[in-house]
Amino acid sequence: MGKINGFLIHERELPPKLEVEKRLQDYKEFIQKPSDEQLKCQSARCMDCGIPFCQSGCPLGNLIPEFNEAVYQKQWEKAYRILISTNNFPEFTGRICPAPCESACVLGINDQPVTIEEIEKNIIEIAFEQGFARPKVPLLRTNKRVAVVGSGPAGLAAAYQLNQMGHYVTVFERDPEIGGLLRFGIPDFKLDKNIVERRVQWMKEEGVLFSTGVNVGIDYSVEQLNRDFEAIVLATGSTVPKELVIPNHDAKGIYFAMDFLKQSNKKVSGIPFEEEEIDAKGKKVVVIGGGDTGSDCIGTSNRQGAEIVYQIYYKPMQPMERDETMPWPAYPALLQITSSHEEGCERMWSVNSKEFVKDENGNLKGVRLIEAEWTKDSDDGKWNLYTEKPGSEFILECDLVFIALGYTHVEHKGLVEGLDIHLDPKGNLIGNNKEYKTNQDKVFSCGDARKGQSLVVWAIAEGRECAEKVNEFLISEM
Ligand SMILES: Cc1cc2nc3c(=O)[nH]c(=O)nc-3n(C[C@H](O)[C@H](O)[C@H](O)COP(=O)(O)OP(=O)(O)OC[C@H]3O[C@@H](n4cnc5c(N)ncnc54)[C@H](O)[C@@H]3O)c2cc1C
Ligand code: SF4
Repeated sequence: MGKINGFLIHERELPPKLEVEKRLQDYKEFIQKPSDEQLKCQSARCMDCGIPFCQSGCPLGNLIPEFNEAVYQKQWEKAYRILISTNNFPEFTGRICPAPCESACVLGINDQPVTIEEIEKNIIEIAFEQGFARPKVPLLRTNKRVAVVGSGPAGLAAAYQLNQMGHYVTVFERDPEIGGLLRFGIPDFKLDKNIVERRVQWMKEEGVLFSTGVNVGIDYSVEQLNRDFEAIVLATGSTVPKELVIPNHDAKGIYFAMDFLKQSNKKVSGIPFEEEEIDAKGKKVVVIGGGDTGSDCIGTSNRQGAEIVYQIYYKPMQPMERDETMPWPAYPALLQITSSHEEGCERMWSVNSKEFVKDENGNLKGVRLIEAEWTKDSDDGKWNLYTEKPGSEFILECDLVFIALGYTHVEHKGLVEGLDIHLDPKGNLIGNNKEYKTNQDKVFSCGDARKGQSLVVWAIAEGRECAEKVNEFLISEM
């Protein structure tokens, strides 16, 4: 351990963000780059605990104390090698992971945790800058062909691993660009699209084939898919949004969050779109629902020039600090204050949407809300008894509503039905737990399509593990 008492000397420090006024002028990333010395001090805070809870908190099992030590010694190439031994895409997780590792950091029991995510991001960026992050073309090929359907982080991680194992991999994507939600969900201010493109180019150099604009199961038949490939990985995401069916939900001005975010991502990248334009400029915007999707709608609306943005939550406000229902090292359900919240948003908790209000032309005028009262009927800390407060109804005026209530499951029409894949009770693909295999002999699944709506870090972990199972299957066939 480089600095045995580093946590006593240095405080947790994250690099500064560009001030709100400036960052709202464009969609660029706004977190500034720390110096090598600052990274050294932050990594010195790692206590190299006997049991690294951070590592078990990370779904990828990243070797966090090991890379912290290498960063402390400024051995960047060593840190990079340690990091990529478990994580294919640290440039994504280093920017947008909610960092469950940091919630599990032992220092976090009575101090601020180590800035693991920030260190991770800088290891990979320094590796690119200094040129030791380089594509590696596999030396041997097995002549087995694998189709990966869906190019989000799960599909990309599976494709990356399978290609390195020597199989010929083709990634199919129905969108015009590769990346799934990294490309068309998450805005540039959280993850610049050049970062995604850099990784796609890298994978192309390593030999992965990408086929965009192909809706597999419709443009490319399942019969053809079965004929052309020895194994198929379904990494098609969880894309069916949860609806809010209340009176007047057909009013003009109500959209699913992803329709707005996808279009905005296209605009920012100069990709043409055919659908009606959704523009928040000068509008009163209401975002219904929390999570990353809701937060991204706030940041995007503010960049488009919204007059005001509200975010409404059905449940009560979460606590700011752990309580007895969320003991360390469990991931705590704390109040999230994202960079988008800092940029301007009025948040309202414990309110339920009763109906939308529209004018005679069908244009949205507001949403009728009612205050909700929640109580806890058990010790698990969850709010689960809901009543409406009589006489508390009010109308929140707005011209735009984004529904960000999450996603129900993977799409069933087309590919899933065509391949006759069995579903679990929630409507996700049955990936046979840790076998990742569906009911069809050579068809595997991973990511949100299998697990349900989740996180990028989980998608990468699933893609890697799924690739192992596909490899075992292909080798057994040789
Ligand atoms: C707006 C938003 C913001 C988010 N922010 C964060 C965040 O900050 N941090 C975080 O960790 N997670 C975040 N998430 C969650 C994260 O993005 C997902 O968990 C992750 O992308 C899932 O990866 P995936 O590869 O399983 O699926 P996806 O990324 O959804 O990719 C699936 C791909 O499959 C393609 N596809 C589907 N069917 C077909 C077909 N038949 N033929 C060809 N292609 C097909 C789709 O077009 C899509 O590109 C966010 C999600 C959303 C919606
Ligand atoms: S991938 Fe996420 S959980 Fe894992 S070390 Fe990085 S920030 Fe932490």
